[in-house]
Amino acid sequence: MDNLTKNLSLSRKVLSNSKAARIGLLLVSFVFLVFLVSLFWTPYDPTFMDLEKRFNSPSFQHPLGTDQFGRDILSRVMVGSQVSLAVACSAVFGAFFIGTSIGVLTGFIGGKLDLFMTRVVDVLLAIPALIFALGIVAILGPSAKSVSVALAITYARQFARITRSAVVSVKNKSYIEASIGLGHKTMTIIYKDIMPSIFPVVIVQITAAIAWGILDEASLGFLGLGVQPPDTSWGSLLIEGRQYAYQAWWIAFFGGLPVALSVFGINMLGDGLRDLVDPRSSRSYFPKDKKKRGKKSATESISADNGSLLEIENFTVDFLSDSGKVRAVSNVTFTIKKGEIVGLVGESASGKSTLAMSMLRLLPPNAEVVSGNIRFQNLDVLEIEQEEMRQIRGNSMTYVTQDALAAMNPMTRVEEQITEILKDHRVTDKKVAKDRALELLHLVRLKDPERNLLNYPHELSGGMQQRVIIAQSLALKPELLIADEPTTALDVSVQAGILELIKGIRKNYGTSIVFITHDLAIVAELCDRVAVMYAGSIVEVGDVKEIFTNPKHPYTQALVGGLLPLRGESKGKLGVLEGQPPRTGEWPSGCAFHPRCYLHEKLGKPDRCSSEKPAIQDDFQDGWASCHFTEQRTRLETLKSTQGKKLR
Ligand code: ATP
Ligand code: MG
Repeated sequence: MDNLTKNLSLSRKVLSNSKAARIGLLLVSFVFLVFLVSLFWTPYDPTFMDLEKRFNSPSFQHPLGTDQFGRDILSRVMVGSQVSLAVACSAVFGAFFIGTSIGVLTGFIGGKLDLFMTRVVDVLLAIPALIFALGIVAILGPSAKSVSVALAITYARQFARITRSAVVSVKNKSYIEASIGLGHKTMTIIYKDIMPSIFPVVIVQITAAIAWGILDEASLGFLGLGVQPPDTSWGSLLIEGRQYAYQAWWIAFFGGLPVALSVFGINMLGDGLRDLVDPRSSRSYFPKDKKKRGKKSATESISADNGSLLEIENFTVDFLSDSGKVRAVSNVTFTIKKGEIVGLVGESASGKSTLAMSMLRLLPPNAEVVSGNIRFQNLDVLEIEQEEMRQIRGNSMTYVTQDALAAMNPMTRVEEQITEILKDHRVTDKKVAKDRALELLHLVRLKDPERNLLNYPHELSGGMQQRVIIAQSLALKPELLIADEPTTALDVSVQAGILELIKGIRKNYGTSIVFITHDLAIVAELCDRVAVMYAGSIVEVGDVKEIFTNPKHPYTQALVGGLLPLRGESKGKLGVLEGQPPRTGEWPSGCAFHPRCYLHEKLGKPDRCSSEKPAIQDDFQDGWASCHFTEQRTRLETLKSTQGKKLR
């Protein structure tokens, strides 16, 4: 039942997201309807010969005309669908079963079996599909059944190759290793862990193979190897059509039309599926209607020399999921100045990474930008061409992730990882690129850069990997570096080294840095300014000293309260607030923080907090907060006495 609901919601998603999929489904449904009707009814008996009506052109009586024996073409096309679809579908089912079993087992077991099977499949794949199928039909004898078996074996080669590659690529992922470590049976791991992750690849392959099946059945029929008279398939209509092409064009035309329509329809449906399952699909997550996002006019555009490097304005992002839309970032307005280090802090799921990805225009396909603008160096990040954005990423704006190992190609040495980026951005001289790679490894203070250039990622420690990722991101001296929790997985001494490194980068290159973290101690040590996020919104922005000594928003006060030595101890991590942060998409109305807010409680729970979104209060020096009662803020000392129990 669960699977059924999942599949239904997948189909709904495909159809609502893709016009191609909708057209494809329409065509496929039409062909399927013709097939279903033909099982019970055809206008005439498709085998009935009426020699007086030979070669009648399309008319009211025979809408698609008649053939050389006076048989009704419409009736023949209808029953022909039974053979064509049955052959294509049974061939694909067989190919899926044989190919996927071979691919999954050999990919998962690996070793000599995998090597042997891969070689065998490679050799077989070298033979063109139609010739391969033709050879098998020649052995089995011409019939619809032989065509079906031949096509099943022919397509099984592709299924085996593709599923084997998919299995190998997921086999070493941590969750599979964890499953093996927990002692699960091989078949359970294959069925429960591996199959679902290769499902998107397989489903696209299935739709493509059905289209090939219809075409190849027609081609084999055309060669006289498919169904034998008096049975009809679309392929046999084509062969007859060719013989009488000059006398009766309609036989070949109406024999070929259903083939073309079904192949076109299935391919379009497959494209829709691919758009959905392929994260690199070109589907845009930006509404086509620019007005909807409140695009700025040219005259309003941000001046390049007002000291700001990146400006985000009224920015809102939703994620589309099975359960509908959820808002991850809500109405964020924020500026990053040239040469500054800004800390972005907030509890888990508050929208920090989503905001960072938006700056790089790297949101996943199920994200939708509902409103707002992002401008980087006076360019509209949401509007510029893909190629221009690619140039910006790497050249002017780069990203450092938390999981350095996952961000590196495991098969490539450090030197290539760095020089590849340089090559992509037109540093073609190998010597120059290598020297630059070495210089970068020196810059990130690796102890033995010459040797490290030759290392593969798995040969480096976590701290070294993170340094290489930072070196990579600095290859082209970017203006903005976005680092999403780059030190979370590292121990304290390695962390301290990375922080020193980041400070050095700003000093040497003047790079602006957005540093996302949960660790306020790092913010205090590293940043010039801080932006605090809560439930998808920035609730306070301010100078780092001001934030730590005089936080305005009650949420910031709570966070900082958790850091300061309230009870004679200094904690590095975010203070843990009482109550859970609201679930994404289920944010309380008004001020999302009010159910956990000490000030709200202290002021007798005013209605305003739950009914009205707080406006930005920007009458502070170099910062702002969004709280209805900011002016009634207490200094932290007062907070300690009233709020002591709410902070840990
Ligand atoms: P953390 O500190 O744990 O990294 P975060 O502040 O970076 O959290 P985000 O990763 O931005 O949080 O996620 C914000 C919300 O958006 C979360 O509720 C998350 O579940 C949701 N979200 C993120 N990516 C997707 C996605 N691709 N599809 C659906 N929801 C998503
Ligand atoms: Mg995150």
